[in-house]
Amino acid sequence: MVDAEALTAWVREFARLVHEQRDELTRLDSAIGDADHGANLDRGMTAAVAALDAQSAAGPAAVLKTTATTLIKTVGGASGPLYGTFFLRAAGALDGVPDPTDPAALARAVRAGLDGVVARGKAERGDKTMLDALGPACDALDEALAAGKPLDEALGAAAQAAADGRDATEPLVARKGRASYLGERSAGHVDPGAASATLLVQAAATALA
Ligand code: ADP
Ligand code: MG
Ligand code: MG
Repeated sequence: MVDAEALTAWVREFARLVHEQRDELTRLDSAIGDADHGANLDRGMTAAVAALDAQSAAGPAAVLKTTATTLIKTVGGASGPLYGTFFLRAAGALDGVPDPTDPAALARAVRAGLDGVVARGKAERGDKTMLDALGPACDALDEALAAGKPLDEALGAAAQAAADGRDATEPLVARKGRASYLGERSAGHVDPGAASATLLVQAAATALA
């Protein structure tokens, strides 16, 4: 069931994966950015977990909102406001919903989060950003739930779609963010934000199913 406890477990698992993959995320960002993506996100997610630990008995929307505001406050790079917007919009979509533990409510929340990232960052799929992992993951989640699949299978499909989308960023030329300053030279490297967004979806598949 996707209740406040499960959403907290999602945030924790994302923080754990980001910490574990911190050097890899930084390595990816050193190739086409400024080598801080691992540090940025690790700092932000460590702070988000601490903020959740300090908060008592919050509802589902509040868990995501605390995560969002902490990321926006603690991450200086582009990814902080973007992930912050993702969690903030997702929180907004869960707020006041009669049954926020319904898998369909989760799917609507992550779709709202995705739309928020698009609105904030003005990127499209194919621009070599986190959207190239998040977008296909949201589509796969919706499709699997619409086909009547249970949530664990649907999230597994979403995690696979995210990983495929991440890998597909390698040959792309970046059109948004720092990597776009490199022009054609950004091709040949996986986008760091697509790699971290895949961790976010993998964490959901572990913690929410
Ligand atoms: P910065 O580029 O400010 O150092 P990070 O290194 O933390 O920030 O994050 C870089 C990642 O942010 C990129 O790999 C990309 O996936 C994502 N990103 C950058 N700009 C955008 C945007 N406009 N829309 C969506 N994602 C973006
Ligand atoms: Mg960077
Ligand atoms: Mg930076």
